[in-house]
Amino acid sequence: MSEHARRPLRTETRLTQSGRNPALQHGFVNTPVYRGSTVVFPTYDALINRRAEFHYGTDGTPTIAALENAWSELTGAAGTVLSPSGLGAVTLALLTTLKSGDHLLMTDSVYHPTRQLCGGLLAKMGITTTYYDPLIGAGIESLIRPETTVIFLESPGSQTFEVQDVPAITAVAKRHHVTTVIDNTWATPLFFRAHEHGCDISLEAGTKYPGGHSDVLMGLVSANAQWWPELRKTYDQMAMLPGAEDCFLVLRGLRTLHIRLKEAQHRALKVAEWLQSRPEVSKVLHPAFPECPGHEIWKRDFTGSSGLFSLVLNAEYTTDDLAAMLDGLDIFAMGYSWGGFESLIVPFDCSRYRTVTDWQPGGLTLRLQIGLEDTEDLIADLTAGFERLNAAHGQKK
Ligand SMILES: *Cc1c(COP(=O)(O)O)cnc(C)c1O
Repeated sequence: MSEHARRPLRTETRLTQSGRNPALQHGFVNTPVYRGSTVVFPTYDALINRRAEFHYGTDGTPTIAALENAWSELTGAAGTVLSPSGLGAVTLALLTTLKSGDHLLMTDSVYHPTRQLCGGLLAKMGITTTYYDPLIGAGIESLIRPETTVIFLESPGSQTFEVQDVPAITAVAKRHHVTTVIDNTWATPLFFRAHEHGCDISLEAGTKYPGGHSDVLMGLVSANAQWWPELRKTYDQMAMLPGAEDCFLVLRGLRTLHIRLKEAQHRALKVAEWLQSRPEVSKVLHPAFPECPGHEIWKRDFTGSSGLFSLVLNAEYTTDDLAAMLDGLDIFAMGYSWGGFESLIVPFDCSRYRTVTDWQPGGLTLRLQIGLEDTEDLIADLTAGFERLNAAHGQKK
């Protein structure tokens, strides 16, 4: 092998090669769907001494291991475990790192179901949560108590898009021996290198870009060398695994992840720039735009932006006006989740559940997921939507 061939693979090449070995599959290109509970052993010695790569379905299968290994290579982690949903990944990461009596610092911009986990199951286990301003940066030091063990980050927040100063927060955490866990779903490891920026554990809703086709639920949790053994142990004790078919679909998704993300980036920026020029819109919340809180940090730490962002409508519009806009859309569909090939739009209002930061955007807010449709078609759909918005608003005057 030449020196040249031995250098580490670049990400895009890695995405095409990780998690498959045709030599083990009769030459077929992809790792197939292995289904199984029982694994049989050829001899008494092999059975008693577990001399086999796989021992039982809950320990993993070649399909599960292929996705775990591919994700570890992509994130630069010591190891990865899977979960049947992104929320399952959040739960697994927090059950790995927290115990009864601990104190958790949680960003106020967090995905709402994560907040419900903190107020529900974690509270019941005697874990207390304090929310912090996502823009707190190194100031998080003042919130650390003797019993603080974990800081949870989500950057940017997946509704309001504040970009967090991850290096500043992880530096404080390291000084105080506090563990950092990040929900990196928006950027994926392609646009933000969570472990290289100091995070101990990073998680991804594979449901979004890794799956990429709105047909699978998946969570991926990766850990650095310090946390990997404990993460694997917690996972083995719970045995909450995704189905084999779902692992296959996410492995398939990885092959085109870089292309889909770049397209999402490009198309979302085009639509977001157009939205910025619209008189109905008071603000576009997109990390690549200077008016987004934390934009300078995004520029410093991220290598791209994905297809999800929000906008604030002018204060004059009512929810009835908004209903007229949304009900007639042809291409944008209303629905939760994102990261698929199709465009989505949802209204949101996080002022009801924020606890330490005051969310007063000054108008109704919408979150857009830009898919792979032609952007001119998307803009035409939104243009007609704004016409309905204005017509409904005008009728009431
Ligand atoms: C969707 C999402 C999750 C949860 O993923 P599911 O697979 O839907 O459970 C977690 N975090 C973020 C930021 C998400 O957008």
